[in-house]
Amino acid sequence: MAEPSHKAQPLEDLLERVYGRTSSIRSNVCVFCKKDATEFRDALSRREYSISGLCQDCQDEVFGVDESEFIEVELDINVTID
Ligand SMILES: [Zn+2]
Repeated sequence: MAEPSHKAQPLEDLLERVYGRTSSIRSNVCVFCKKDATEFRDALSRREYSISGLCQDCQDEVFGVDESEFIEVELDINVTID
């Protein structure tokens, strides 16, 4: 069971009313697509889930380019400079 990150109580209440964030996270369900949110790429993605309630797929949709791609691009630039 994931533990939802702590937010100020009025905000927590609002998020819960609007899209059931707290109850979704407590039951490991994505707040957006409502699928199981149990598999994450890394600790960062797992932590993001406790904040936003988005599963890995939805995080990828929202945040776009993943970090490993970003690192590869950086390495390419370094090779070019050398
Ligand atoms: Zn999702």
